[in-house]
Amino acid sequence: MDLDLRAAALARQAGQAGPVTFAEILKHPDIAARFAQVRRYFYLRESTYDMTCRCNVRCDGCYYYEGDKQNAKNNTDAEAWRDLFRTEKKRGITFVVLAGAEPALVPDLLEACYGEIPLGAIASNGLIRIPPSVDYRIHISVWGNDETSERVRRAKRMLERQIESYAGDPRAVFVYTFTRENLAETRGVVETLANHGCKVTFNMFSATVGYQGSLTHTPESLAETRQVMLSLLADFPENVIFSPYSAAAHTDKRSLHDLYSCSYPRQNQGQFGLGRSFRQYRSDLTWIREASCCVPDTDCADCRHYAAGSAIVTARMNRHIGSADQFRAWLDYVDTYLAVWVQGYAKNPNLGTVPVAPAMALDVARAVK
Ligand code: SF4
Ligand code: SF4
Repeated sequence: MDLDLRAAALARQAGQAGPVTFAEILKHPDIAARFAQVRRYFYLRESTYDMTCRCNVRCDGCYYYEGDKQNAKNNTDAEAWRDLFRTEKKRGITFVVLAGAEPALVPDLLEACYGEIPLGAIASNGLIRIPPSVDYRIHISVWGNDETSERVRRAKRMLERQIESYAGDPRAVFVYTFTRENLAETRGVVETLANHGCKVTFNMFSATVGYQGSLTHTPESLAETRQVMLSLLADFPENVIFSPYSAAAHTDKRSLHDLYSCSYPRQNQGQFGLGRSFRQYRSDLTWIREASCCVPDTDCADCRHYAAGSAIVTARMNRHIGSADQFRAWLDYVDTYLAVWVQGYAKNPNLGTVPVAPAMALDVARAVK
């Protein structure tokens, strides 16, 4: 969690970012208790690693197979990866996100990483089970029901096979990506996952630069997605890991970058927070500062990706101190982020029951300038 504390300090110096001070906000017992809980994780510093450029499926709109990162030569030497993670640990990285293409194809490299940095998450399509010895969170991507997955991801019985691999596995969180086309099937998929005791969170399809396909959201599908997210959150509280503010932030007509100013190096070459510490390594162990973010080659103007928000929104505590309810919304977002990404962190009941307008963050940012 690379908080922009520099700006938060400025807000405190100004004494007042909105009608109340931050000190007054912290006097609310529910806020004080949750803030004390989540601030224990402020030490998390993430970077991401493409473990391989191989994948066992090929999805329409995949961000990995855009741009030149897919052409990196695979380094398959576990010792070289172990050395990299030792160096990363010395650099202050405490949380790894292992992605690719498909990390489950290189279990020995995942083991090498886990041996050095024991906190992290793996982004997988869930068709091949990762050995239990790699005790990271495992995010399993779901893009709709089996009929849709067969069409868009060209894989048969995808959900069924993912559930076979991961039902009952405490590491697993199923990540349902809302596209413009799969809204109507979401409830059925979440019901199926709930019937198998699986946890699920939500993602938004975010187009890659130049993508012209049919999955991109429209203002209408964004508004509809928000309602579907909120109703599923209310109906499946034991299974859905999300918050009303998460729904609002990810379905706003403005992208995450437009709302919160992305703090990854690709958009923030500054020397504070993620802009300083974050690296996105390719499968040949190289990285490029100008291209580094958690979803490279995604169009920033359409970025609503759950992984992007997990860093961008959490970093902007300073833009959520305009009122007690706005800060509750941020705490719910952070609590959701921790429950989705950190193995062993259990989601708490949300403090806010209705979404706070994400545009308030823009108002607070203007007020503390
Ligand atoms: S499973 Fe993931 S990496 Fe593989 S093609 Fe699909 S989106 Fe890309
Ligand atoms: S794609 Fe998203 S996460 Fe990446 S730089 Fe753009 S806004 Fe940031």
